[in-house]
Amino acid sequence: MNKVVYMDYAATTFVKPEVLEEMLPYFTEKFGNPSSFYSISRDTKMAIDKGRQRVAKALNCEASEIYFTGGGSEADNWAIKGIAFANKNKGNHIITTKIEHHAVLHTCEYLEKNGFEVTYLGVNKEGFIDLDELKNAITDKTILVSIMAANNEIGTIQPIKEIGEICRERKVFFHTDAVQAVGNIAIDVKDMNIDLLSLAGHKIYGPKGIGVLYIKKGIKIDNLVHGGGQERARRAGTENVAAIAGLGKAIELATVNLDKHAKKLTELRDKLIDGLLKIPYTRLNGPKGEKRLPGNVNVCFEFIEGESILLMLDFEGVCASSGSACTSGSLDPSHVLLAIGLPHEIAHGSLRLSLGDGTTEEDVEHVLRVVPPIIQRLRDMSPLWEDFQKRGEK
Ligand SMILES: *Cc1c(COP(=O)(O)O)cnc(C)c1O
Repeated sequence: MNKVVYMDYAATTFVKPEVLEEMLPYFTEKFGNPSSFYSISRDTKMAIDKGRQRVAKALNCEASEIYFTGGGSEADNWAIKGIAFANKNKGNHIITTKIEHHAVLHTCEYLEKNGFEVTYLGVNKEGFIDLDELKNAITDKTILVSIMAANNEIGTIQPIKEIGEICRERKVFFHTDAVQAVGNIAIDVKDMNIDLLSLAGHKIYGPKGIGVLYIKKGIKIDNLVHGGGQERARRAGTENVAAIAGLGKAIELATVNLDKHAKKLTELRDKLIDGLLKIPYTRLNGPKGEKRLPGNVNVCFEFIEGESILLMLDFEGVCASSGSACTSGSLDPSHVLLAIGLPHEIAHGSLRLSLGDGTTEEDVEHVLRVVPPIIQRLRDMSPLWEDFQKRGEK
C-alpha cells in the first residue's frame, strides 16, 4: 500500500490531538446538561463559556456576539435568511458574488423564490470583485452584502476591509463567509467592519458539525431555531459541548500559530505551483502571491478531465479534489471556474490540491513526481489532445 498524501485540507482537516484532548471529558464524566443546576453541569456551562471567549478573542469581538451553530453552512444560512426576513421592511435587495460557496448561493436562490432580489457580482480572471461595481450595485433597497473572505476553490482573498467600509458608509449589513479564511489569514471583525461572519470547526483542525456565526451587537436578525433559551434563545437546543470546547481550542491554536503556519504553507504552495506549471498547457487558477490562501493550489490541465486525474491520483495515494466537494459527482464544471472566465472544456480539467498542517516537503515532491506521467497518459488517451496535435502538424 502506498503512503497516503492528503492534499484536501480545504474539504476538511483532521482534529489536532490537543483539540481532541480538550473534547474528551465532555463525552464521559462531564456530561451534564449545561442548562441544569448541579455541579457537573457547571463544568459543561464553563466549557461553553470558555469556547465562546476563545472564539471572541480570535475574532476581536465580545463573547456575547458569538453564536454556535451546526457548522459553516448553517451559519451562512442563518446570516442571510435571518437578516433578510428581519429587515424586509427596509428593503428586499441582497448583493453577493458568483463565486460563493453553495451554502450562500443556494440560500440566495431560495430567497429569490420568496420575494427577494439578488445581485450576483462577477469577478475578474483571478477571482476578485470590483469595488466600484459593488458600490454601484447598492441601492436604497439593499439590506445585505454577503461576500466570502477567501474562496475555497481558487484561494482568492477578497479586500474584506474595503468591502466593510463601503457597506458601513452605505448603511447595509456586511456578512462574510470566513470558513476558509480563519486560521489562514488574520481576521479582526472590528478593524474590517464586519457585521456577521461564518466559520466552521472542521476546516481549522477542530471537529465537524460545529460552526460559529458572529453577530455584531444590536443587529436585527431572526432567530434560527425556536425552543429553549440556549444561545440567548436565538438558536435553541442543547449545546454540542464537546464540539464547542474543541472549536475553542482549535481557533486558539490557529490564531497563535497563524504566521508560522501561513509561511510554511506558502512556501510549499509555491513550490507545488511552480512544479505543476512546468507541465505544458497547464494554467494556474486564482491569483499568485499574498492574495492567495497559503495552502491553495488550483490548476487546469488542458485536454483532460479532472475526474480521471483524481482517480489516477488516488491510485498513487494522493487525496485531492476537482472543483468543490459539492460539485464532484455532477457533470457541471465548477461555478467558480466558469465565473473566472474559463471555457467549459478547460474548467473540466481542474485539480485542487490544498495543503495543511500535516503537509511535508516530501508530500509536495511525491505529487510533483506522480502528476506529470498521469497527465501524459490521460492526454495520450484524449481525443481532444489528438485533435490538437493534428492541428499543430498542419
Ligand atoms: C466548507 C465550507 C463551508 C461549509 O461548512 P460546513 O461546516 O461544511 O457546513 C462554507 N463555506 C466555505 C467557504 C467552505 O469552505
